[in-house]
Amino acid sequence: MRGFIDSHAHLADPAFDADRDEVIARARAAGASAVICIGESIAAAARAHAIAAAHPDFIWHTAGVHPHDAADFDRARDIEAIDAELARGAVAVGECGLDYHYDHSPRDRQRAAFAAQLALAHERAIPVVVHTREAEDDTMAMVREAGQQGVRGVLHCYTGSHALAIAALDVGWCVSFSGIVTFRKWTDDALIRLVPDDRLLAESDAPYLAPVPNRGKRNEPAWVAHTVARLAAARDVDAAALGASVAANARRLFNLPHAG
Ligand SMILES: [Zn+2]
Ligand SMILES: [Zn+2]
Repeated sequence: MRGFIDSHAHLADPAFDADRDEVIARARAAGASAVICIGESIAAAARAHAIAAAHPDFIWHTAGVHPHDAADFDRARDIEAIDAELARGAVAVGECGLDYHYDHSPRDRQRAAFAAQLALAHERAIPVVVHTREAEDDTMAMVREAGQQGVRGVLHCYTGSHALAIAALDVGWCVSFSGIVTFRKWTDDALIRLVPDDRLLAESDAPYLAPVPNRGKRNEPAWVAHTVARLAAARDVDAAALGASVAANARRLFNLPHAG
């Protein structure tokens, strides 16, 4: 499969410290045309920047503060740090959002950190990568308000309700699916089909959530090909064509230059 883009990989994670360059080489060999390397903290974003700088026109980075860490979010300090990453080439704010499943940070702090990052995305006219889990009503309200102001983004690793997906799509957002769609317990192909062709993204979320047939292993971007194939089967379309469209959609959302 040629040309797909992994829209969400934590390549700055220490899980890749021993063999990161080999992982990136395997992504190229598997046909990836780009990988979005997520900076889910200020420290991770700095590492992601270095990885992107070492792999120009293939790895692109983002910068944000994950909802798990929202308790430690300091608006003045962290928005300035994220903004500095945008100034040196980060293609999106995030990942940020709301996670009421784990509740690692108080919900009011999660909302405050998310709102501040949405405001920065609006100010800089840059897309936002959103993590949402069991926080449907608040995510819907905040995505809708930001979207109506012109902010664009993606609901990443999406497994939530049809209603939240539709609300995000209605304000111009994308929806990204991970290897979860290859798991035997996945039953919601209707969710995969409700996303229009021009709003669909695919991601590894590496090092987590390796798709079948590699489930349980450390995940890597090369294996997004399995997820693309599963999405194509659910939509009854050709896998190569779907790989090309998720790549085009990622290039449009993240304002990447055209390939080759
Ligand atoms: Zn996430
Ligand atoms: Zn992530």
